Amino acid sequence: MRVVIVGGSFAGVQAALDIKQADPNAEVIVIEKQAELGFVPASLTLILQNRAASVDDLRWVTQQKLENKGIQVYTKVACTGLLADDQIGLSTGDKLTFDRLIIATGSQQSFQQAPKKTTKIKTCKTPQDVTEILTQLKTATTVAIIGGGPVGIELAAAIADVSPHVHLFESEPHVMNHYFDLEMIQPLEDAIKNSAVTLHKETFIDAMEETKEEQVRLYFNETDLDVDLVLLANSTRPNNQMWQPLACHEDGTLQVNDYLQTSNPNIYAIGDAIKVKFRLTGESLYLSLVNNAIRTAKIASQNITGKMQKDPGTVRVSGNHWFGYFVGSVGLLEKEALLYQNEIESQHFYVRKSTITTEKIHLKVIWDRDTKILLGAQLVAQVADFALLDQLATAIRQQQTLEEFQLSERFYQPAFRYPLAIFTQIEE
Ligand SMILES: Cc1cc2nc3c(=O)[nH]c(=O)nc-3n(C[C@H](O)[C@H](O)[C@H](O)COP(=O)(O)OP(=O)(O)OC[C@H]3O[C@@H](n4cnc5c(N)ncnc54)[C@H](O)[C@@H]3O)c2cc1C
Repeated sequence: MRVVIVGGSFAGVQAALDIKQADPNAEVIVIEKQAELGFVPASLTLILQNRAASVDDLRWVTQQKLENKGIQVYTKVACTGLLADDQIGLSTGDKLTFDRLIIATGSQQSFQQAPKKTTKIKTCKTPQDVTEILTQLKTATTVAIIGGGPVGIELAAAIADVSPHVHLFESEPHVMNHYFDLEMIQPLEDAIKNSAVTLHKETFIDAMEETKEEQVRLYFNETDLDVDLVLLANSTRPNNQMWQPLACHEDGTLQVNDYLQTSNPNIYAIGDAIKVKFRLTGESLYLSLVNNAIRTAKIASQNITGKMQKDPGTVRVSGNHWFGYFVGSVGLLEKEALLYQNEIESQHFYVRKSTITTEKIHLKVIWDRDTKILLGAQLVAQVADFALLDQLATAIRQQQTLEEFQLSERFYQPAFRYPLAIFTQIEE
């Protein structure tokens, strides 16, 4: 069996490794248009924060490592599209036939109101993007970031340390709108407002254009602002035009069934190329997260190697550390209650991080009012506890009740843990 995988990032690499492991006789070929594999999308932030010296220090996988596993890898080769039901075209002019194809071509940020990406209007998705942005940041004094989701806030937090004027634009009423209820994200918003970042909430950029002075003029709220550099952190979507005639949704994502097969059953699509099921409501949502890319890659690989399994969907778990706050979110938000079939209840908890400190983690937990099954949790703290976030994600995935979660054992050591069960409160 020949399996061709287009896209050598998180989803494509996981799929290649899984298929080769499950079926060592399979011929597995990865096609990647970039020069190297293993780009870490948060590279810009890690370099600006002096946690890495360059993009190359951060690569999480190499072509050689895949080749050592018997996987064929073609870099600097782009797929140009489907030539037949079982054949793709390559930028080299070659044609490649397949028994199964996996589309793992990912996504990028876009801005429909701008004519095109320019040297001053950039996305942050490739090593070239990061290198060019780092060069421009040496002279840029005013930087605009469009989008107050995880990518935009991450960029704002990192660039605020090196550029005197950062403007963060968010069209929704608050930042991280898809991950937090308002009261939970308020401390982060306050911290952003107290930083060098000017936060423009409920502000939609109507248009932007480059000026003769080699700046970019942004038009919004009947006013305008000239900046040296614009970073797009909005409207993450795939560009799947090349995959015609496969069926697509209106937002450009490829249509897939529960087994992640496209309208051609021998062609699978995974990662940022598709929408997935949100387990808490059953709705179909677009989620640009590495854990989603990994899960869908594993499901598609199992299906190709003979263990047919439906994609169970995502519980949407995400976390990071910005402007002094560790934030994490998993599952249903209170503001999404209308999308959930039953009544919900929620409560705030203040959890001591350890026995030797008084630092607390603010948790908001949401559950089904009748069954007490856990549905969602949001975490905000000045101390890190991402293990708790992962534990809550597992509990929500396994549909544990509050009681069952309280019974789950965690190791205890006074420097790292407080002895009581998570939802047991003895003080405010
Ligand atoms: C700045 C930034 C920071 C982020 N930080 C995080 C984070 O901390 N945690 C998290 O969970 N998510 C994060 N994300 C989101 C995450 O990067 C994506 O969800 C993830 O990369 C999706 O993986 P993927 O393999 O589906 O697609 P991509 O990573 O988009 O990879 C697609 C690959 O396909 C290749 N390709 C595309 N078209 C072709 C073609 N025609 N021929 C050959 N190759 C092709 C591309 O070159 C690319 O290598 C971040 C995103 C950005 C932009």
